[in-house]
Amino acid sequence: MNELIKLITSDQQKQLLSLLINGPDFVSLCTINGDVNYVNGSGCAMVGLERDKKNKLVDTEFLMPFEVDRFNQEVNPTLMKEGKWIGKIVYRNFLTGEPIPVHTTNLLIYDSETALPISRATIARDLRQEELALSQQKKLMTLVNSSKDLMSLLTLSGTNEYINESGRQLLGIDTQEDIRKIHISSLHTEDQLRFVEEELLPSVMQHGQWSGTFSARHYLSGEIIPLENNCIRIDDPHTGQPTAIGAVMRDLRPDLKAQEAIRHSEEKFRKLMMHAPVAMGLLEGAAFRVSAANPHMLFLWGKTDEIIGLPLVKGLPEIEGQGFIEILQKVRESGVSYYGYETHIQLHRQGQLEDAYFNFVYARSEEEADTIIVVATEVTRQIQAKKELEESEQRFRSLILDAPMATALYKGKDLIIEIANPAMLELWGKDESVIGKPLHEALPELVGQPFIPRLLEVMKTGILYHTDQEKAELVVNGELQPFWFNYTYKPLYNGSGIIDRVLNMATDVSSLVRLQKIKDDFIALASHELKTPMTTIKGYAQLLASRLEVEHDSLENKMLFKINQQIDKLNQLIVEMLDVTHIRAGKMLFRPRLFDPGTLTAEIAEDLRSVYQTHAITLNVKENAAVYSDPDKITQVITNLLSNAIKYSPGKTEIIVSVFVEQQYVIVLVRDFGIGVSEEHRTKIFDQFYRVNEGSGGTYPGLGLGLYISSEIIKHAGGKIWMEPAENTGSIFGFKLPVYKGQ
Ligand code: ADP
Repeated sequence: MNELIKLITSDQQKQLLSLLINGPDFVSLCTINGDVNYVNGSGCAMVGLERDKKNKLVDTEFLMPFEVDRFNQEVNPTLMKEGKWIGKIVYRNFLTGEPIPVHTTNLLIYDSETALPISRATIARDLRQEELALSQQKKLMTLVNSSKDLMSLLTLSGTNEYINESGRQLLGIDTQEDIRKIHISSLHTEDQLRFVEEELLPSVMQHGQWSGTFSARHYLSGEIIPLENNCIRIDDPHTGQPTAIGAVMRDLRPDLKAQEAIRHSEEKFRKLMMHAPVAMGLLEGAAFRVSAANPHMLFLWGKTDEIIGLPLVKGLPEIEGQGFIEILQKVRESGVSYYGYETHIQLHRQGQLEDAYFNFVYARSEEEADTIIVVATEVTRQIQAKKELEESEQRFRSLILDAPMATALYKGKDLIIEIANPAMLELWGKDESVIGKPLHEALPELVGQPFIPRLLEVMKTGILYHTDQEKAELVVNGELQPFWFNYTYKPLYNGSGIIDRVLNMATDVSSLVRLQKIKDDFIALASHELKTPMTTIKGYAQLLASRLEVEHDSLENKMLFKINQQIDKLNQLIVEMLDVTHIRAGKMLFRPRLFDPGTLTAEIAEDLRSVYQTHAITLNVKENAAVYSDPDKITQVITNLLSNAIKYSPGKTEIIVSVFVEQQYVIVLVRDFGIGVSEEHRTKIFDQFYRVNEGSGGTYPGLGLGLYISSEIIKHAGGKIWMEPAENTGSIFGFKLPVYKGQ
């Protein structure tokens, strides 16, 4: 310093001083005691000092209070001893109190003559900017070091200069290890190195950056690690010359793993979809491109896999205008799934446009918002079946409604009137308001009559019930009146095989019954009126025969015999008519007692043999058994069967009568070899006035009442009567009566 002063002129010294005091640094002069003599402009500005105040200051006042001790104990003693002190110390701003870190050079100035220190000079450089930069750098380094990504610096020659903590961990390099000593070839494969040299570095040098995928090799294990690499060229800010290459790399393994997982799950989903038992498909994008469709879906659409990859309207042009594309658009925009239930669609399948019905879902995929998942089940068959059922029910309804016969349908245990056709309503004397009501409410007059219990019985047992000419009392025109019906209660089964309805078909036979009554009354009256004169005629004829005493084979005798025979026939007819009258009026007189039908049959056969010599009656009584019944009435039956056998077997002579016991019944069979009864007449011949040869002239006289009366007698006696065809010719009539078992 002294040499310098010696070398330069005093002018030059002045210039140097001016340079110093006008410079950016803080410059101050003070006495050895610290009284401040001078502070330059930059210094005042730095510490916020007004110029006029500086003379009253001591230099420790520039310091932050915590620095004062250090100054007194360390800085000042050193300065006084050694003549200078250079170091960092913290000043303060007088106005704001802000600490100002400074780098100070403290010098003692000596008196040139006495060589004693006379002042202290201080030059202080403001370190705030520098420290700020340093702290920012520190922060940046913290950032770099705590970054999850690998960050590194490379020299231009491609050697490693710095690698952050994450990078070290990723590559397996110990924190302590000097990265500069690790050759780059131990962190990359040969291919990668070649790539770095031939492509990456030239690209960074030329374009200032390079980004792409890249891989590194684990320092210890040698595992190849895929990385996403962003390299930039770092240029010197002053010279603009490249100085290094910075790289930020991200481990791609988690990404790849996630991608793999997604691919795997997608593959799984696709597999699942392809094998799903329901129709599934995927539609992508705004055009609803069919990106996948399982075989069920292709089958439902009636298409092959050629449809895959096509927009839906191209693959299924027929759906345009049917509203589905619009629904898909809504689902795509809103993300709200759409559920279609029994939706009608026309599809071009098997060469023709078909009506089909589907339950389906359109759902936007949660993972891929551009994909819509379609799941569908075809329900065409069910819908058709439903329609057919509805149609058949409709047909059934109209069949009932249009039927000329009074018909009604009752439902459930309450016998709700489900249908009642106009004929039935008329028959009931009610209007349509009864429909939907329980039968007992709609026709309260039925309560106490047998119909409702009978209907419930049919509902319970499933056994059809039919009856003819049954009396019912109905309120018609506000009046309870008797009616007679032939009716059927038919149980109807539902789809589960349970009886839930009963069909009632009825014919009003009231007028017929009334006519029959008139007829019965007439027959009763006529037969009654005929009986007295007949008895009288018979009496006179017998009297005449006894008075005439004619010869046996004289004409008179023959004529009298004929008269008697005809009177008997007439009497028989009258008896039959009277019997019918009694039966119909429920007044058949029955006087039961024990007797043996075998013996009775033998007696009757014997009697008849004497009257009808034309036929030979063979009797075959196998067993004798007692029955408890009216023997006169049973005689009437046997006589009727035997007379018929004789009457309807002209030209034949044989009649066989058998009596035997079977299963607690005495059975009497009368077999003839006559004209027989053809099948169609067999059940009807037991009806009153039924005659097979009606209208064929008087070949076989009769009224058609004998079998009717016989069957009523047998019914009354608790037995059964029937007719069965005999082999070859003729017929077998039989009846059975229960064997008397004692009281
Ligand atoms: P009727 O003999 O007075 O006509 P029935 O009631 O005894 O009345 O018989 C009814 C009908 O049954 C007869 O008209 C006849 O056609 C038929 N019939 C009855 N018995 C015989 C029989 N043994 N062989 C053939 N037909 C018979």
